[in-house]
Amino acid sequence: MGKWEPAAVRLDIVAHRWVGTDAGGAYLRRCELDVARTARGITDRWTLPLPTPGGPLVDPIEGRARAAAPTPRRAPLRLVGRIASHARVPSREATMTTGSFDALATAVVGASVASQWTPAVLEWQIVGVEQDPDAGGVCVCGQTGLVQLFTIRNQHNDARLFPIGSKCINQFGRADLDRDVDVLPRLLRLREALDTHQRVDLTSEHFSRAVLAYLHEQGAFPPDRWNGNDGGNDYQFLLTMFDKRKKDEITQPQLRKISVILNKKVFPFVRSDERLTEGPS
Ligand SMILES: [Zn+2]
Repeated sequence: MGKWEPAAVRLDIVAHRWVGTDAGGAYLRRCELDVARTARGITDRWTLPLPTPGGPLVDPIEGRARAAAPTPRRAPLRLVGRIASHARVPSREATMTTGSFDALATAVVGASVASQWTPAVLEWQIVGVEQDPDAGGVCVCGQTGLVQLFTIRNQHNDARLFPIGSKCINQFGRADLDRDVDVLPRLLRLREALDTHQRVDLTSEHFSRAVLAYLHEQGAFPPDRWNGNDGGNDYQFLLTMFDKRKKDEITQPQLRKISVILNKKVFPFVRSDERLTEGPS
């Protein structure tokens, strides 16, 4: 994992209250902390009820004070026994710091029509990927060391964000984007292999079931008299051949057909795919 921006999040306890002495018969029932969280210049406040001994951890209550700027909806801060110097927002990937997610969400929501994270992520498509072999890319979230630099475009206002890394796109929680994040770098390598006149076969070195599905969906197999005017037949044929565990079971006529479809359809399509942009040179 790359280096994260240092001190991306600061937590300050701005107030605390003991609850229970009055109506609780002089017993202290619990303690509440008001915590100000500052990340990227944005401060929001949370009330954290401390757990009682043996009691369950409880979720904080947002908004004793208004956030200084709109913040995206997400999992709340979770109290883990004591106030840690680095709070982590639970996420599916658990690879992003709170500060990184905040920076990502600020960039994405700020460039979206919607003002909340959940609807905002639906507005975006991946329109480009390029490689930086020197790993010099800095993601919109602040992560350094990006090799695969994606460009995403907002379908409603044409805004673009670049570069953005695969981990951040995975945070969108969209299976179609996750598929593109997987497939597009593979196709980029495939095109580099073509450009450098390497041999490209229908093997897992350059292909996957997802790659073939992508090619089919994107129109790489136009209907013609060889596929009975249905590109789906080309797709199914390649898929069947790709799935064969014993490649020596593929007959000579099948090998020729694979070669024709790759050379006449797949390779020209990959060469002309506008999403596979040239890397910085
Ligand atoms: Zn990122």
